[in-house]
Amino acid sequence: MEVSFSREAQMLRLGRGALFHGEGILAITKALLQSGVAYVGGYQGAPVSHLLDVLVQSHEYLAELGVHVEACSNEASAAAMLGASIHYPLRGAVTWKSIVGTNVAADALSNLASPGVLGGVLIIVGEDYGEGASVIQERTYAYALKSSLILLDPRPDLTRMVRIVEDGFALSEASNMPAMLQLRIRACHMRGSFVCSDNAAPAVSPLHLMEEPAAFDYAKLAHPPVTYGQEKLKGEERIPAARRYIVEHQLNEVFVGHHDDIGIVVQGGLYNSLIRALQQLGLADALGNAGPSILALNVICPLVPEQIHAFCLAKRAVLVVEEGQPEFIEQEILAILRRRDVNTPVQGKGPLPMAGEYTVEVIARGLADFLARVAPELAIGPGTAWLAQTNARRDAVAAQLAKPLPPRPPQFCIGCPERPVFAALKLAQQDIGPVHIAADIGCHAFATFEPFSMGHSILGYGMSLASRAGVSPMMNRRALAIMGDGGFWHNGLLTGVQSALFNGDDAVLVILKNGYTSATGTQEIISTPTADAKGDAADKQESQVHTNRLIEQTLEGIGVKWLRTVNSYHVADMRAALDDAFTTDFAGLKVIIAEGECQLERQRRVRPWQAQMLQKRKRLVRVKYGVDEDTCSGDHSCIRLSGCPTLSVKESSDPLRVDPVATVLDGCVGCGLCGENAHAASLCPSFYRGEVIQNPNWRDRVAARVRSAVIALFQPA
Ligand code: SF4
Ligand code: SF4
Repeated sequence: MEVSFSREAQMLRLGRGALFHGEGILAITKALLQSGVAYVGGYQGAPVSHLLDVLVQSHEYLAELGVHVEACSNEASAAAMLGASIHYPLRGAVTWKSIVGTNVAADALSNLASPGVLGGVLIIVGEDYGEGASVIQERTYAYALKSSLILLDPRPDLTRMVRIVEDGFALSEASNMPAMLQLRIRACHMRGSFVCSDNAAPAVSPLHLMEEPAAFDYAKLAHPPVTYGQEKLKGEERIPAARRYIVEHQLNEVFVGHHDDIGIVVQGGLYNSLIRALQQLGLADALGNAGPSILALNVICPLVPEQIHAFCLAKRAVLVVEEGQPEFIEQEILAILRRRDVNTPVQGKGPLPMAGEYTVEVIARGLADFLARVAPELAIGPGTAWLAQTNARRDAVAAQLAKPLPPRPPQFCIGCPERPVFAALKLAQQDIGPVHIAADIGCHAFATFEPFSMGHSILGYGMSLASRAGVSPMMNRRALAIMGDGGFWHNGLLTGVQSALFNGDDAVLVILKNGYTSATGTQEIISTPTADAKGDAADKQESQVHTNRLIEQTLEGIGVKWLRTVNSYHVADMRAALDDAFTTDFAGLKVIIAEGECQLERQRRVRPWQAQMLQKRKRLVRVKYGVDEDTCSGDHSCIRLSGCPTLSVKESSDPLRVDPVATVLDGCVGCGLCGENAHAASLCPSFYRGEVIQNPNWRDRVAARVRSAVIALFQPA
């Protein structure tokens, strides 16, 4: 990975009394070190990628401290890593994006939770839910309930978040339950401060090794018959122990308001939005002093019945602010109160919507509705006016536009090596007819948007080949699966390739080998070109992905007989390879590896190198593409075949032409796709390839003069 986190890595070294100022996710990372964590692992994904990225780049400091860091191949391997804490007094932390990562990790999570842990375990999950989420809209809560895990949801305040990490380990040890800590996108990226403690070197570590393994103990396995006993332990010992710790250490917070007869129970993570909503309604000040009393649950699982009972007992009514469906917390609160014969009215879903993100506006509307029903005497006039103004503003914009805004879907980066593969696939389907395309998770999912609109299903990360297994036998034409190299190593090799080979499936797989798990932040994987390969290259602008052949070797080793590696940018070659794969007599699995380095990562390497070359006054050649507007036919099929954002249109300078012509904007990185498409699809020959030479040598200068002179000969005077 070419992104540098050296500044963040320095902040991890801050000692006792120093003021940390930065992002929430980095504060959590620092808190892990302050807690004496012995090992950390995980699989990247927004919004928690930085945790692992920063630790991976801090490996020297972590080695000094004795903390082991592992970049796991998927979330299941990260969860399994926590098995170290079953027998040993080791504090372990892993991270991933939820809910997808938790789904992948579910097997290991259950097998961890059943025997329970001796060393504290903390799983930091990026809760990517609601506005801007890129995954299925589900919450982690169901897993916590099902597997008897602790679920922490800290109030977004750096001091509180750090404390919850430190207490999270202790709580896990006190109850023998693994703990999950969920962080919403806003909490990860909010900025704030906290006063640091010293980092704590773990007592057992690579610097202080254990002499002997733990004695064999069948009760530590998640195997019958001990699983029956473990199930009993969960309810009779672990959960009560967790509840005791939560109360004794005041992990949940009660904020007593001046309208104490009205109560709000809120997930800790939503506390800031709730306060802002109350402010908008005139029921809280800028310092967060609110009218209603608030119980902020920094631990949302398990709930503490005595605490819920005490908070709700003398209230006129209580609102539960709980995001997502179903309403787990609300139902449990209702059950707790009814079992204790407390008849405080409780509302939640109803005033608040069942699904979707609880933004400030959504909470404010729910609050206004709730208060109108239970406490109409509370004057929320200014808030009602604010909500009305928000509606009016939205209606005014909608009226002005007269129609909905056109969607602006995300798309491939300029010069992305994956775009040409889909251009080739468009052309190949002109030859062989439409095919069923099993898509996957990764940047290549951008091909589901225009101008490609390709992909019939997405069933999970690395699952494309597996997801066409039921389609292939039913389809006249071969089905195609597309996955990235990240997906291949995450899951695709086992769930897809191995299964297809074992079953003798007749299918086509395209693996986009760009060298990184690009969609999650271009983290390195086992098939990333080595730093040596990148460093040794004479021209740093050249792609180096061909230097690592691990995917090819793995496929050959596992028994793939039909295997082609094609340069992603060579559209005609890719089209021919696809045509061949769909029409060959070979009836087994056919794999095409589309090789081309992630352009984002390439540019991160190339731009500093180019700047250095210019600084040293060395000759630098950069390629740009352009359109000769006299030749451009104006049908824009090049745009429909490419989708590159720098390939655009402009008014023709010819007054006799009314239609716009194609043009290449400044951002062009010279990937060559424009020329390749024009050639492969026999488009009009309007594209030209130019070389921008900076710090030219004498040969360049002479050549330029000769060319100018020859051109001048043919120009009218
Ligand atoms: S990050 Fe890399 S692979 Fe992803 S769209 Fe950008 S260039 Fe393509
Ligand atoms: S050559 Fe064409 S496709 Fe490639 S970056 Fe330039 S405009 Fe975009």
